[in-house]
Amino acid sequence: MNDELDRLLCSKFPCIFPDRYESESRTIMCRGFEHDDGWFEILDCGLHLIQGHIDSINSVAGSKSVEQVVATQVKQKFGSLRFYYNGGDEYIQGVFDMMREMSGRTCEVCGEKGRIRTTKRRWLKTLCDKHAKENIRENEKRAELNNQI
Ligand SMILES: [Zn+2]
Repeated sequence: MNDELDRLLCSKFPCIFPDRYESESRTIMCRGFEHDDGWFEILDCGLHLIQGHIDSINSVAGSKSVEQVVATQVKQKFGSLRFYYNGGDEYIQGVFDMMREMSGRTCEVCGEKGRIRTTKRRWLKTLCDKHAKENIRENEKRAELNNQI
């Protein structure tokens, strides 16, 4: 994800991303968000619900508290969003499940409606029709260049 969106999520949810700028020996969260920009809204909405849930439960004195969610890695795998973390509860797991499902239907590049496709390099990636075409064209171009060499 681009730096601007990355910084925006980290500043909106500092309790979820305290390790974003830690060293790699301590956490792989220092790699940032290992996917394209199109999933920003999914993360923003989901994390808003999650942090709101934690804050509201933990503000009630005497109730069973929820352990703060702390991200350990955020990436794309098999075409959809994978968010690895510590803490949370069943509600939060449900929100992350929803985010993962939505990411498999949302173009990773632009956020439009998409579906999981196999790219020419046989990677799975969720793309809209436009970006699926561009992806294929880019790969064809790359193949042409390789042939010229
Ligand atoms: Zn797209």
